[in-house]
Amino acid sequence: MSSDTPLGIPGYVHVYSGKVRDLYAPVDPATVEARADQLLLVASDRISAFDFILEPPIPDKGAVLTQMSLWWFDQLADLVPNHVVSTDVPQEVAGRAVLVRRLDMVPVECVARAYLTGGGLKEYAATRTVSGVELPEGLVDGSRLPAPVFTPSTKAPLGEHDQPMTYAEVEAEVGPELARTLADLTTAILRRGNEIAAERGILLADTKVEFGLDGDGAVILADELLTPDSSRFWPADEWEPGHPQPSFDKQYVRDWLESPDSGWDRTGDTPPPALPDEVVAQTRARYVEAYERITGQTFSA
Ligand code: ATP
Ligand code: MG
Repeated sequence: MSSDTPLGIPGYVHVYSGKVRDLYAPVDPATVEARADQLLLVASDRISAFDFILEPPIPDKGAVLTQMSLWWFDQLADLVPNHVVSTDVPQEVAGRAVLVRRLDMVPVECVARAYLTGGGLKEYAATRTVSGVELPEGLVDGSRLPAPVFTPSTKAPLGEHDQPMTYAEVEAEVGPELARTLADLTTAILRRGNEIAAERGILLADTKVEFGLDGDGAVILADELLTPDSSRFWPADEWEPGHPQPSFDKQYVRDWLESPDSGWDRTGDTPPPALPDEVVAQTRARYVEAYERITGQTFSA
């Protein structure tokens, strides 16, 4: 079966599919009921851009994302507790799945930016602020920010677009105490990620993380961590503010979709066209390169 449809996995029941991941609950052999405290988080090879799931899938992408997240969870374990329980998973999904604690997910996409580009740059150009934080004059595409800025967004349901949230909106949604924790942890994760990535010649321009609460109300880092799906990866030696940066992440696919080559009108109401073989191969190569550069390990599927 291709990795773009949820599998039947003996001993697990399918509970949810997002754009990229399929979630399963383990069945407790004693009661033959689905456990409520754990999930098998399976990363498919699906790729999404502009909130569309694209065709075809990118070979090995699910394994790259899973292995890379695990590597980062380990590196940042002293900074923030994470949801990983075990990497001992059914052989059908070996390498691209993790058994995790099932958390009560915080309904905020926690974004932090260390460099200015994309949506942050647009907002800065219009208001000289991002998410209400005032920034110096004269910043351009790719400029490093004085310090990482928390720029949260809503977690839109499947098929809808995430919207920027102000800090006050996050406070109203989750309370001031949790809002402060989310902002502090998200910026700390990006700061630490950049310290580690710098030793490997990579800049992490920005990232999106998700947190959940355990039964005791503790804040736990969930989902994926510092991958080319959730973050912008720039080669440090080619960094030159003033124009779009070369990257090892999903930006390559977004650029192709917006280029005349794709023939796609993003503002229209037709879904994007299928990715040509060359774009699929280039995208796979970028994900693998990001993994290999960051972890120092050779990727084997
Ligand atoms: P959406 O949830 O809007 O579909 P998405 O398309 O990014 O977003 P995926 O990344 O494909 O979703 O799916 C992962 C889903 O699993 C997300 O909804 C995420 O919030 C959820 N998730 C991740 N870790 C956990 C966890 N430990 N407990 C419960 N849910 C989790
Ligand atoms: Mg996701």
